[in-house]
Amino acid sequence: MWRLRLLVTLTLAGTALLTLPLPSQQARRNRSVEIAAIPQAQAPTSTLPPQIPPSTSTEEAPGLTVVLDPAHGGADYGARGPTGIAESDVVLDFARTARIALEAQRLRVLLTREGNQDPSFDSRSAMINGLRNAVFVSLHVSSSGPVGTARAYYYVFPSDLTTANPAALAANAPGQTSPPPTSAPPITARTSLIEWDHAQRSSVDSSRKLATLAQTELLRRFKGSPGTPIAAPVRQLRTIAAPAIAIELSSIDVTDAKRLDQMTQPLAEAIGRAVAEFHYPLNTPAAPSSGGR
Ligand SMILES: [Zn+2]
Repeated sequence: MWRLRLLVTLTLAGTALLTLPLPSQQARRNRSVEIAAIPQAQAPTSTLPPQIPPSTSTEEAPGLTVVLDPAHGGADYGARGPTGIAESDVVLDFARTARIALEAQRLRVLLTREGNQDPSFDSRSAMINGLRNAVFVSLHVSSSGPVGTARAYYYVFPSDLTTANPAALAANAPGQTSPPPTSAPPITARTSLIEWDHAQRSSVDSSRKLATLAQTELLRRFKGSPGTPIAAPVRQLRTIAAPAIAIELSSIDVTDAKRLDQMTQPLAEAIGRAVAEFHYPLNTPAAPSSGGR
């Protein structure tokens, strides 16, 4: 029954995302992370909000799957460097290298795109929401910031901003907040279903933990990076019902592409180490709270 409902959910969500706009040039200039905000009016809407079942099954659990998300793609190049280098190409290279490192750890790895496609936010989320034991890592390159540094992000719902780190939000994520979802509470004890648009609600704590581990590993490899991850309403992460983070490297604004190439392997190692440290102490997915807000 859940399987059928999930299929219906994914179909609804995928259809809705066909209307989503691409990030504008202006938005990219104003963001340290140009992860597109989605206008609330264009978010998946329905009188029956899409829902997905939480991954709480005690059935035989497969090994951990890491879903790597090279952001952007297709006509959405993301940020552009002075030499014409496109963020969408750079992050695809990052993801391919990270896949090799993760597979060497005997982890299953999926990429949200294998080439120059541009899956919708929800299509990317759907890849992991159908899995029972997985984490999601979205990869970006900023258009500004100190070259050679990296930041990890975890999702914070706009309604929870007062409990997040307001200083970090103000300093690092101006203009990139997405409107809060306005649909019904995310989790209902009666049905044990998690609403699509609030999917990350069930994984906020684990995502923060993964982001913290990732930031620690990034700092070890990229001096000048912050010591703690950043809480921000990164649109892609909101609809993921699993531990999910975004990593953003600085920056696309380099005249020598080798500066970014040199970050590829250390980034892969940082992701591999963080995922390993996250996974082995936490093999059992946390049960979702029944007291949704
Ligand atoms: Zn980006």
